[in-house]
Amino acid sequence: MKLHEIAEGVKKGRLRALAKAITLIESRNLDHSVAATTLLDELLPATGNSIRIGISGVPGAGKSTFIEALGLHLTAQGHKVAVLAVDPSSQLSGGSILGDKTRMEHLSRHPSAFIRPSPAGSTLGGVARKTRETMLVCEAAGYDVVIVETVGVGQSEITVASMVDFFLLLQLPGAGDELQGIKKGVMEIADAILINKSEGENRSRAELARRQYLNALHLLKPRSPNWQVPVLLCSALNHTGIEEAWKTILSFREAMGREGEFERKRRLQATDWMWTLLLDDLKDLFMRDKNVEALINQVQQAVAEGITTPSAAARRLLEVFKRH
Ligand code: GDP
Repeated sequence: MKLHEIAEGVKKGRLRALAKAITLIESRNLDHSVAATTLLDELLPATGNSIRIGISGVPGAGKSTFIEALGLHLTAQGHKVAVLAVDPSSQLSGGSILGDKTRMEHLSRHPSAFIRPSPAGSTLGGVARKTRETMLVCEAAGYDVVIVETVGVGQSEITVASMVDFFLLLQLPGAGDELQGIKKGVMEIADAILINKSEGENRSRAELARRQYLNALHLLKPRSPNWQVPVLLCSALNHTGIEEAWKTILSFREAMGREGEFERKRRLQATDWMWTLLLDDLKDLFMRDKNVEALINQVQQAVAEGITTPSAAARRLLEVFKRH
C-alpha cells in the first residue's frame, strides 16, 4: 500500500490502513519512521477531533474493567473509542501488564472500539512517542474518544498526563490509609479521582476515602480557576457511576473550553512535545557523533577522577560536536 493510500484508508476509518499506519509508527526501521512522519503530516488536518482521556491506577484498581464499562457505554451512544496503553515495563517483564489479550474482552470485539496494547520499547520516551502518534492516527480514523491507560511505572503518569486533555486517577476504597497509596505528584495532575469498587460493604469506606481525598485536594493549589477536582465513586463491575464519570469529563471540556483553556493546553502540549522530540534527537545525534565517541570515555573518566570539572568536560564535548 502506498503512503497516500494508507492515509486515505485511515481517514475512511479502514482497519487495515489503520493497522499499517501503526506498524510504520512502531517500526524501528529508519525508512519506516521517515514514512511515518510523512504519513502523520498528511493526516494532521484530520486529527484533534477527540477527547483524550488518561487513566491511571495501581494493578488491580479496575482499570480494564472500568475502561470496558465506559467504552461499552460510549459505543452504545454512537461514539468510536480507541484504547491505547503506555507501559514501559513491558519490555523488561517480557509481557505487558496492560497488553494482555484477555482484557476488555467485550469491548475489543465491538466494531466501534479499537484496542492497542503498549508498544514495545525500553524507554518511556520511546513508548510515549509511538503512543502519541498512534493517538493522532486514531483521531484521523474517526475515533472521537481516545483513552490512554497506564499502570504508573516510574514517570509514566506524568508522561500520559502530558498527552491527554483529562487525567483520571482510579483509586480503591481503603481502610483510611488511601492517601499514602498515591505516588508523589500524581494527585497534582489528576483532573478527577474515581474510587472504584464502591459497592456493597465497600460503600462506606469509599465515602470516607472520598472525604479524605477532598481534604487533601483542598490543600493543593488549583491548576485552573475553571475546574475543581471532583472525587467520584463507581463500581466498574456493576456499571454504576460510569455515566457520572463521563458527564464529569464532558463538563470539564465545557468548563475549560469556555475561556479557551482547552485549546491552550493542547497547543502547549504540542510545543512541549516538539522540544522533547528535538532534545531526544539531538542527544541521539550527539551520542553517535564520531568526535564525541572518540573522546567521551576519556573525558568521563577524567571527571570521575576529579581531573576535570564536569562543566569543563561538557564544554569540551560540545566543542568537538560542533566542529562539524
Ligand atoms: P486493572 O489491573 O487495574 O486493569 O484491574 P482489573 O480491571 O483487571 O480488575 C482487577 C480485579 O478487580 C478483577 O478481578 C475485577 O473483576 C475486579 N473489579 C474491577 N472493578 C470492580 C468493581 O467495581 N467492584 C469489584 N468488587 N471488583 C472489581
